[in-house]
Amino acid sequence: MRAAVSWAMPLLLIAEGLAAGDPFARERGQMVELIASRGVRDREVLRVMGATPRHLFVPAAIRALAYIDRPLPIGWDATISQPYIVALMTELLRPEKKCRVLEIGTGSGYQAAVLAQLSEKVYSMEIVPELAASARETLGRLGYANVTVRQGDGYKGWPEEAPFDRIILTAAPPEVPRTLIDQLSRGGRLVAPEGSGFEQELVLIEKRADGSLRRSSKAAVTFVPMRPGGK
Ligand code: SAH
Repeated sequence: MRAAVSWAMPLLLIAEGLAAGDPFARERGQMVELIASRGVRDREVLRVMGATPRHLFVPAAIRALAYIDRPLPIGWDATISQPYIVALMTELLRPEKKCRVLEIGTGSGYQAAVLAQLSEKVYSMEIVPELAASARETLGRLGYANVTVRQGDGYKGWPEEAPFDRIILTAAPPEVPRTLIDQLSRGGRLVAPEGSGFEQELVLIEKRADGSLRRSSKAAVTFVPMRPGGK
């Protein structure tokens, strides 16, 4: 089973990509293999990571680096997260086809594109107007029609569309904002980096059917800080 995930699947993805004339197919297959070897098991997550053209979400000048397992700068002090971390957070979030998902920190739009293929609808908020505009353009051009990007402050969430079945933060607040927990459905899951230092804690918050919360710490991570509202 394990072997099937780490070898057969990337090979299949490489073959498909090469057949489709994608010059990055081989590198993307190797990326998926690395993510699987680091412990991400969810086959749907691995399939989607293998199907999403990460090189089209990074600035053209660093396109050749798109599939290394590192975060990359995308301007305005933002980074596109490391592939393994995107996969890990997606696996923890456990999106389902019927889910409405809120993302805070659109950045390049890459995480939103991954989530779009695993859920019904993604609402993504980005505080930097230029990043919101370029992510919206990229997602539209690549046909991710079930993502809506809004420029705004993630601390406020998206009250008009709340509640959400899943919420993911890709910028780190000192503490997960209460407003966002309030916008999570009962039975919902929220994944976020939390903390104010260079290193933060990746937390999963589950809201039970009775509204009570269960919190667990999953990993140490490094994300850009979530900017205080209005800045
Ligand atoms: N998910 C992104 C990575 C984003 S990096 C991707 O896949 O590329 C974190 C992003 O959060 C940055 O673009 C940053 O501008 C944004 N951000 C920071 N503070 C924010 C806030 N208060 N509200 C919304 N977005 C915020």
